[in-house]
Formats: sequence, structure tokens, C-alpha cells
Amino acid sequence: MKTALVCGAGGFIGSHLVKRLKQEGVWVRGADLKFPQFSPTAADDFVKCDLRDPVSCRTVVDRKFDEVYQLAADMGGAGYIFTGENDADVMHNSALINLNMLEACHRRNVKRLFYSSSACIYPERNQLDPNNPNCVEESAYPAAPDSEYGWEKLFSERLYLAFQRNYGIEARIARFHNIFGPEGAWNDGKEKAPAAICRKVAETPEGDQILIWGDGSQTRSFLYIDECLEGVARLMRSDWTGPVNIGSEEMVSINQLAHLVMDVAGKKVRIKNVPGPLGVRGRRSHNQLIFEKLGWRPSQTLRAGLAKTYPWIAARVDLAASRAR
Ligand code: NAD
Repeated sequence: MKTALVCGAGGFIGSHLVKRLKQEGVWVRGADLKFPQFSPTAADDFVKCDLRDPVSCRTVVDRKFDEVYQLAADMGGAGYIFTGENDADVMHNSALINLNMLEACHRRNVKRLFYSSSACIYPERNQLDPNNPNCVEESAYPAAPDSEYGWEKLFSERLYLAFQRNYGIEARIARFHNIFGPEGAWNDGKEKAPAAICRKVAETPEGDQILIWGDGSQTRSFLYIDECLEGVARLMRSDWTGPVNIGSEEMVSINQLAHLVMDVAGKKVRIKNVPGPLGVRGRRSHNQLIFEKLGWRPSQTLRAGLAKTYPWIAARVDLAASRAR
């Protein structure tokens, strides 16, 4: 039976990835600081541990797994990674996890290792025009990410590639662009724009106002979780060795995103744009390389993904409100 280890299996993407691997008949071990928050883990075995600790990493990698997926990271939305308040933790914690996991995998002769990098590695200079951002894979250098989170991801990409060069690790590196869906952070300060806006719309009475950070014309593209996992599966089982974008090319402004959420919710609220942590002016996945190499591109619209995500968040909002009464 094929075996896989998913680090970060208590998180949003990791917990969904475990479910998908189980559906494929893989024996799965999950590892994380915490169990998944919103539903029981589907993993056959789950080790609650701190992967900043090299001994924990060696304990978790106690065999030659066929596949290791390294998604554990200290991360969150703009309110977490762009304020500067968490920079030291973000860099220190995530770098340690990657250093330790590579060493532990190398010791056990694990070959196939997936690493979740991020669109945040791309240089700020190519993302100043909200209508025309450039996130072609090869534009990553000369490097100039706009956050320490992005710098750590870039360092770790290079670390995985160095282990590939020197020790025969078969690294598969995806640069995720804003993944969203049910069972993601929605109200703990680590939520990203789609979840935050769904929550605000769900919490706000018809006609009242919601606050949106920035002038609202900053652009992004968002990818639904199931699409992301399809991209990860294809990348992991391919021979392509370079970092590749996994995202959507459907770009919207943040105010347009809010209007899409309102449409899906069947509710109109007013938008008030206020100062807040933002990141770059524009960002969109560029999918030519992944389509060429893996034949993958997203199959559904942003609206379709929001239609699956909004009800999940609205139900959480209702539950929280009924508990407060
Ligand atoms: P998440 O925060 O939900 O999951 C990350 C998990 O890592 C969490 O469950 C957390 O507890 C775990 N973790 C953190 N520190 C740990 C430690 N010291 N030991 C063990 N576990 C630890 O985030 P996610 O959205 O599921 O993202 C997964 C990966 O994808 C991350 O590496 C993230 O940087 C990357 N990524 C995500 C997105 C996105 O839009 N969600 C975009 C770009 C990149």
C-alpha cells in the first residue's frame, strides 16, 4: 500500500489533502501542532507535534514514505503576514520546519517531497499595476518579495532544490495563489480575503456597511481547494522539477470579490474602504507553464467556489451568534 506523510495536516489545505489521499487508497500519517479544527482528521495515524523540533521530525519520518507533503508553516492572511508584527516568528518557525523535515527525509531515504511555496515570492516591482501583474515563474529573480513570509518561502524553495541537487531528493514545489474553501480559517486573525469577506457579509444586516482594507482596487486571483489538490496531485506524480504556479488566472479586485460574495449570499451591503495591511497592488497566477507541463488548469469559476464556501462560513456565523444569545 502506498504511504504518505502530510505535514500541516491539521491546517486548511493539509486536512483536505489527507481526505483526498485517503480517497485514493493511500495510507496516510498526518503531523501538526493541532488536529483539524472543523472535522476529524481522515488520516490513519496523526502525530501531534512541533516540527520545529528535529527530534519530532525524525519521529514522524520513521520510515521511507512514498510521498511526503510539507505544508506546515507559520502563516495567515494579510492581517498576519503584512503587519510586520509576526515577521520573526514567521521566518524562524517555517525555516526550522523545512530544515528539519529535509534532514529527516534525507536520513530515511525519502525521495518524493512536495513543498508548498507561495505567490508571495514574486518581486514587488512586477505587481505594482493592479491590472497587469507578472507572476511568470521565471520572473522570481532578481528576488524582491514584499514580505518576510515571501523571503522565507524563497529561501526554502532553494533549500529543497539544493537537497535535490546534492542528495537525490525529488522535490516538487508549488507556488500557491490564494487557496480558499470550506474548513479554512475564517475568524481567528489568520483568515484570508475570501473567508474574511464571506464572514463580514454573513454577519452584516442587509444595507449596513462592511469594512474592506485598502481602496478596493487591489487585485488577486483565488483558487478553490479541490482545484488546488488536483494540481498538487498532478505535480507530485510528474517528472517536472521546477517551481510552478498553482492558482487561477481569473483576476478580480477586492471590491469585485465583495460584490461576488454579496451575489452568492443574495444580500446587499455597502462597502467602506479603510486603511489596512495590503500586500502588493496586483497579483494573478500565470498558468502557461503548468498547463504545458501537466495539462492542468482550473475547471471552475471563482463564483462557483464562493458558492460552496459562503454557506459554510454563514453557518459558522449563525452558530456563533446563537451561542452568544
Ligand atoms: P494553515 O495555517 O491552515 O496550515 C498550516 C499548518 O501548519 C497549521 O495547521 C499549523 O498548525 C501547522 N504548523 C505551523 N507550525 C507548525 C509546527 N511548528 N509544527 C507542526 N505544525 C505546524 O495554512 P494553509 O492555508 O493550509 O497553507 C498550507 C501551506 O500552503 C503553507 O505552507 C502555506 O504557506 C502555503 N500557502 C497557502 C496559501 C493559501 O492561500 N492558503 C497560499 C500560498 C501558500
